[in-house]
Amino acid sequence: MSQSDHSTAPLTIVGTGMAGVGLARAIRGRDGERPITLISADSGDEYTKPLLSSAFAKRQTAQSLVMRDAVGLAATLRARVRTHTTVDAIDTARRRLRIGAELLPYGQLVLATGAAPWQPFEVASSLRHRVFQINDLDGYRRLRGVLDRHPGRQARIAIIGAGLVGCEFANDLHAGGHRVALIAPEATPLPRLLPPPLGRALGEAFAEAGIRGYFERQVSALHDDGEGVTLVLDDGEALAADLVLVATGLRPRTALAEVAGLAVSPAGILTDRRLATSAPNVFALGDVACVDGLDAPVGGLSAMYVQPLQAAVKALAATLAGIPTEVSYGAWPVVVKTPLLPVVALPPREPPHRWRIEGEASDFSALAEDESGRLLGFALTGRCVRRKVELARAAPPLLG
Ligand SMILES: Cc1cc2nc3c(=O)[nH]c(=O)nc-3n(C[C@H](O)[C@H](O)[C@H](O)COP(=O)(O)OP(=O)(O)OC[C@H]3O[C@@H](n4cnc5c(N)ncnc54)[C@H](O)[C@@H]3O)c2cc1C
Repeated sequence: MSQSDHSTAPLTIVGTGMAGVGLARAIRGRDGERPITLISADSGDEYTKPLLSSAFAKRQTAQSLVMRDAVGLAATLRARVRTHTTVDAIDTARRRLRIGAELLPYGQLVLATGAAPWQPFEVASSLRHRVFQINDLDGYRRLRGVLDRHPGRQARIAIIGAGLVGCEFANDLHAGGHRVALIAPEATPLPRLLPPPLGRALGEAFAEAGIRGYFERQVSALHDDGEGVTLVLDDGEALAADLVLVATGLRPRTALAEVAGLAVSPAGILTDRRLATSAPNVFALGDVACVDGLDAPVGGLSAMYVQPLQAAVKALAATLAGIPTEVSYGAWPVVVKTPLLPVVALPPREPPHRWRIEGEASDFSALAEDESGRLLGFALTGRCVRRKVELARAAPPLLG
């Protein structure tokens, strides 16, 4: 292929999550003509992922969460959208993608392939219809479908993992009328976002509402007991459940990039602040990207959130339009969707010298400070969440 062919080949975005679609939209906002191809392993339906963990209480169907299907997306973006299409390999030297036997040229390539649920144990095939993960609309659709087949009946749901996703689903499925148990190896919920006294307050709010917490416990085995699942914990206790939701974390989908020879780390595809990877004409953003080394999962900090993603979208759209632009992140706290006890947290980049914790009952402010008392981050629960704006103004930016 000649150089001129590359210059006419489309800008190709792999992934139609909030990163891929957001970028296509931002580019269209600047340039109505540029050929854009979006490729997605899934249906390409546009939806807002954070809404998945507050949709059971509202009894929303998966379909009602779809804002636009792939046909609508292609029309609004004036882009080619290829769905149920998995990119198998990237040839960065010849600038083309391999999809099965097809070789597809790209002009510039953006990897927005997100992160995949990580599961620390095998699940027997006889139990697969009872074990779920929700990291996309299809995952939500699957569990929603099973719960809908038993209307009016409370399901016993065991959630493994008490991070953001596990806690939000615990609250939401409980609010949706189900009997929820939460199991985690750590002593308190949200261990990467909250210091222990605040985590305990959330655990207590869950317990008072009837969510059973099994902390400092691990699941050693899952058994099919005919009627449901028995979870055997490492202290020998057995829990009976109808369904299991595994929320044990996400891992950036780096395999495609790694095989193509791009620099990656466990935190994602490595990019500079212009979202450029180590290969020419290849960029990455969203959950799959590790921007400027920031996303290293140190002390609870991760940039796998919407605000950093949106900032990256804006910067990359400008760069791709010929205005090289570096991304910056502000001090953007995470708002955890646990109405049983509101939580807001801005985890510090490094372990702080100390946490200064004030409050009572379930209303706490925890300030992460360095040796000279400078604010590095914070965590708030209950009524103290109203300090969010004031503290975010005083905290250092995530990527200034
Ligand atoms: C339940 C839940 C609640 C959340 N709540 C919040 C919140 O309240 N606030 C917040 O800031 N963040 C929240 N997040 C995080 C936020 O939703 C994510 O950071 C964001 O949606 C990631 O978008 P993405 O486009 O990078 O990845 P994804 O949405 O995962 O999209 C990845 C895309 O890549 C495609 N793909 C992958 N591999 C291939 C391949 N080889 N070939 C072709 N296509 C491929 C997939 O099909 C998909 O279209 C939440 C996450 C979850 C799971």
